[in-house]
Amino acid sequence: QVTDTLAKEGPSSPSYDWFQTESLVTIVIYTKHKDINLDSVIIDHQDDSFRAETVIKDRSYLIHLGLFIFFSVQVVENVGKIEIVLKKKENTSWKCLGHPLVDHNSFIPKKDTGLYYRKCQLISKEDVTHNTKLFCLMLPPSTHLQVPIGQHIYLKLTITGTEIVKPYTPVSDSLLSEFQEPILCNNKCIYFLIKIYPAGLFTPELDHLQIGDCISVSNPEGNFKKSQLQEVEDLFLLAAGTGFTPMVKILNYALTHIPSLRKVKLMFFNKTEDDIIWRSQLEELAFKDNRFDVEFVLSEPISEWNGKRGYISPALLSEFLKRSSDKSKVLICICGPTPFTEQGIRLLHDLNFSKDEIHSFTA
Ligand code: FAD
Ligand code: NAD
Repeated sequence: QVTDTLAKEGPSSPSYDWFQTESLVTIVIYTKHKDINLDSVIIDHQDDSFRAETVIKDRSYLIHLGLFIFFSVQVVENVGKIEIVLKKKENTSWKCLGHPLVDHNSFIPKKDTGLYYRKCQLISKEDVTHNTKLFCLMLPPSTHLQVPIGQHIYLKLTITGTEIVKPYTPVSDSLLSEFQEPILCNNKCIYFLIKIYPAGLFTPELDHLQIGDCISVSNPEGNFKKSQLQEVEDLFLLAAGTGFTPMVKILNYALTHIPSLRKVKLMFFNKTEDDIIWRSQLEELAFKDNRFDVEFVLSEPISEWNGKRGYISPALLSEFLKRSSDKSKVLICICGPTPFTEQGIRLLHDLNFSKDEIHSFTA
């Protein structure tokens, strides 16, 4: 009975069609679902295989074909319809659309799909703090991938013969550049703020990559939805250390796309002043936009530090989380080391914030 109900409520299966001109082939995916945008489709063309994965709710629809063409790809957003335009290698009429490969035309739960990787080139690497760097990776020309706000990808490197995979959350290239969703340089570059741990397994290797070297980047994952920001009036961001990374795009998006927004407040927990990522940009943004405030809290400050001190606590939160009005719609995002996030969630429940008002970022 339960399965029946779930099956009825699940999205109906998408389908596709294709048509051609002398030089172009267009594949049209009918998702049968309205909430589809450019984030929803990921396209790759590697080793003569063409792959278009469309994420529809918690399912994944795959077009997977052997297509022997050189192509450029374009995705046109429409009401539930995705058009992918391919350029033929030679101007001939096609009798069929390539040949089907593994899982072609399947529509399966996203959790069962496994991660798909493509190789990206390291374009630049800049120091941000004493141990955190801004990495820019460039997608291959034949890939269309936009990481949705609040989601992460996995980076994969082979270290002493073993494949190691770790999650990272893309950011914008800066807090102050005009918000362009979600990636810059013609939708081909993805930026990451990554802390290098000298005794860590993955980050020292990542730090050894040279400009021009390649690293594998997975499809996005994560359960944050932009719709959680809809109609929000007060947005509170609680970030510790690199737990700041998901807040970057959320902050930019909220300030530019949410008309109901009255206030965004970031409480940023770090050990020392030197650890604060993009401090001057945060201060500049707070100066320029009076809807935004930032407060720094240090757990290992020098004695001269005039600001707030300590770990996340009831006193810090109850003072910080003031609604702009009694009934204002609130969202609180929290991210950082696991004990920080867990403690924060407990304290937020104690302060009577509901589950719907809290989003925590975890793996
Ligand atoms: P690890 O080998 O995991 O070690 C990390 C630190 O712990 C080192 O100091 C190491 O010495 C110490 N350590 C390791 N093992 C032990 C042990 N047994 N006992 C005591 N100490 C130990 N990080 C970012 O910088 N930027 C991001 O955008 C980002 N996004 C993330 C998104 C998600 C969803 C998640 C879950 C994590 C994210 N992280 C991010 C963290 C990232 O995935 C890695 O955990 C981080 O880069 C550390 O990797 P590492 O292999 O270099 O270090
Ligand atoms: P850090 O060690 O520099 O600590 C930053 C602050 O976290 C501290 O100043 C303190 O206020 C707080 N904190 C640390 N330990 C605490 C504890 N036991 N109890 C309460 N508060 C505590 O942080 P870091 O090295 O930058 O690590 C950031 C963490 O955020 C990593 O564990 C990383 O995996 C996680 N992260 C998760 C995501 C995600 O899930 N989406 C994204 C980015 C980072």
